[in-house]
Amino acid sequence: MARTADVVIIGAGIVGSSIAFHLTQAGCKNVLVIERETRQGLGSTGKSMGGVRAQFATDVNIRMSLYSIPFLARFEEATGHPSGYKPHGYLFMATNDWHMNYLRKNSARQKALGLKNVELLSPDDIRKVLPQLRSDDIVGGSLCSTDGFVDPESVMTGFMARALQRGAELWRGTQVTGIYTDHATVSGVLTSQGGVSAPVVVNAAGPWASGVARMAGVDLPVQPLRRMLIPTEPFPGLPERLPMMIDMSTGWHFRQEGLGLLMAWAHPDEQPGFRTDFDPAYIEKSLTHAAARVPDFVHLAVNPKRCWAGMYSMSPDHHAILGSSPDVRGFYFANGFSGHGVMHSPATGRILADLILKGETSVIDARDLNVQRFADGRAIEETAIL
Ligand SMILES: Cc1cc2nc3c(=O)[nH]c(=O)nc-3n(C[C@H](O)[C@H](O)[C@H](O)COP(=O)(O)OP(=O)(O)OC[C@H]3O[C@@H](n4cnc5c(N)ncnc54)[C@H](O)[C@@H]3O)c2cc1C
Repeated sequence: MARTADVVIIGAGIVGSSIAFHLTQAGCKNVLVIERETRQGLGSTGKSMGGVRAQFATDVNIRMSLYSIPFLARFEEATGHPSGYKPHGYLFMATNDWHMNYLRKNSARQKALGLKNVELLSPDDIRKVLPQLRSDDIVGGSLCSTDGFVDPESVMTGFMARALQRGAELWRGTQVTGIYTDHATVSGVLTSQGGVSAPVVVNAAGPWASGVARMAGVDLPVQPLRRMLIPTEPFPGLPERLPMMIDMSTGWHFRQEGLGLLMAWAHPDEQPGFRTDFDPAYIEKSLTHAAARVPDFVHLAVNPKRCWAGMYSMSPDHHAILGSSPDVRGFYFANGFSGHGVMHSPATGRILADLILKGETSVIDARDLNVQRFADGRAIEETAIL
């Protein structure tokens, strides 16, 4: 084959870029990242809302965030690029006792694992954050002030730029069309530019991950799911610094974006599939939730041409699938982030680099996120998904 690499990474989104960064940081130089698009960010990464949070329900997701958010806060020191980290917080608002107890239990767990800035709020506290809220049914909430937002493109670019400086290579406009295996061991990839031999191949193909896994003869339970976002036109009168506000009664949530808002809501009828068209009917549904929670939002204006859709990569238990394939030696997964791939990209890069180079990691118990968990009956459902 024309080219050899120590590690081939398929996909140059935020996850592939972080893995390249962490591998080269650990001294692995011959890293080749292969991206079929002519520029980075055209997969899920460029479509993301950029939210980062440690307010999860499971230990492993909390640990992924406890590694990742401080990393994103110091990103410029590590990469020379800004991450755009804005610690404006995530505020979950409960409208019934069940949700409030859920927040109470989660926040105790988050604190026990070392999260310092999470606090439970009373309805009065929440009204102070956004006085325009309709709060008659709000029973309380949970706010973590180090949660917030980043600029996903800038993080992706920063990871990749530093990896390239340290000797990694990025092939753009190159599609991986096959994965070579020999006696259930990876030996390289076939690309639109020819073959590359490599003892390690990492699947970082985002929503396309199960198709890439199939190239190695492996079943990977990851499905694409369309997700739509609605930016609004400028809206006066909002506080200067607003957290991501999550209405737990509907799942509708929003954050500031420029002078307006960026709104999201998981449509319950959405079915898995490769769809990135934006459905204009979604605007009306989201605006109904918006006006129900903040009556002033009845005046929100939306230009449908500025709305967009991308794809989540859903795993069966809404946790990432990280680590080596039990069926093909040298084939690694960094997939199935279920809407958390931007915020968990730093931990993912570190974990994958650890597993590839040392066979173990101290960031999490790697068994929790390996693919065997599904066959073993060890899936761990994350319920705090948006
Ligand atoms: C609307 C929306 C909002 C979101 N909001 C958030 C959020 O607030 N916070 C958060 O953490 N996450 C969020 N996410 C999820 C997040 O965007 C993803 O988890 C993350 O971007 C995944 O990154 P990735 O690198 O794995 O995938 P991608 O960015 O999709 O990159 C995969 C890359 O692989 C390439 N590729 C695929 N197949 C091949 C092949 N055969 N050969 C070569 N290249 C290939 C693709 O071209 C693509 O560039 C959101 C997602 C969407 C759609």
